[in-house]
Amino acid sequence: MEQTTLAIVVPCFNEEEVLPQTNGQLRALLDAMMRDRLIGEESYILYVDDGSRDRTWSLIAGYGEGDVHVRGLKLSGNVGHQNALMAGLETARADADVTLSIDADLQDDTNAIPEMMKKYDDGCDIVYGVRRKRTTDSLFKRTTAQMFYKFMTRMGVKSVYNHADFRLMSKRAVDALCQFEERNLFLRGIVPLLGYKSDSVYYDRLERRAGVSKYPVSKMLSFAVDGITSFSVKPLRLIFALGSVFLLISLAILIYVIVALCRGNGVQGWASLMLSIWFVGGCVLICLSVIAAYIGRIYTESKHRPRYNIEKYLK
Ligand code: UDP
Ligand code: MG
Repeated sequence: MEQTTLAIVVPCFNEEEVLPQTNGQLRALLDAMMRDRLIGEESYILYVDDGSRDRTWSLIAGYGEGDVHVRGLKLSGNVGHQNALMAGLETARADADVTLSIDADLQDDTNAIPEMMKKYDDGCDIVYGVRRKRTTDSLFKRTTAQMFYKFMTRMGVKSVYNHADFRLMSKRAVDALCQFEERNLFLRGIVPLLGYKSDSVYYDRLERRAGVSKYPVSKMLSFAVDGITSFSVKPLRLIFALGSVFLLISLAILIYVIVALCRGNGVQGWASLMLSIWFVGGCVLICLSVIAAYIGRIYTESKHRPRYNIEKYLK
């Protein structure tokens, strides 16, 4: 039987602190899997340097030197986790039968990878790595992430609960993914849309081995907005519902004002009037911002700019 070529794709942004551990662990795993004949001898790890400003690239280049199982892809600048991952997948699909994406910080349990490969051998095109619990994440990260998943489901986005970007994909699944042209990438929302047979493997989320999170709150927020606006038009409908409710409220206020006028104590309405002006004004602004978010997406999509530029490919 022809052996499967696996490419482990690892996006890295300023990861000099954790990379030595990551490479040691992934490299050992690759050897073990090749020895067990779970994967073919052509398999490799592909590090994608997402425009790091530290020693990340020189480390990657060092690991790749004289090792056919380690490759590096250097992007010309920082394009963000999702785009960097996409760059890796698009590059790897040229010669890999299966790709596996994993973060550089080893928070995802690499021991789940052989199990994911087995699911692939059993005929799955996509295997999701799903976190059992998130006790190792900070309380803030945990609650915001959980709120985000719930909100996404409410907004009608199909995604796998507690799955991030630890995922195995067959070549044809990656080929299908590459046909999605959108620039505001939210991979974990797109992949379920591909429709191929999928399964999940469960693991415990570990602590970041070294270095700090490359996802500050601002990046988390814009990622969340990307996720919702790329997949759902529900917020647009919500605006309409919200507007209707406010119309009813103002109608009630109108009746109240008329009644008060008839009773001869009209000035009292001043407070409620001021209140509603501000209230409605605030709501209008919120609604505008939602519309602006969508227009912003349309704007970036319509430009069809490249997602990333490759500076170097070390094979
Ligand atoms: N990452 C990237 N580009 C960025 C930000 C992050 O390639 O602009 C990578 C990072 O190196 C890591 C992965 O994305 O491999 C996930 O980032 P991190 O672990 O910091 O996120 P968290 O686990 O805190 O959500
Ligand atoms: Mg992490």
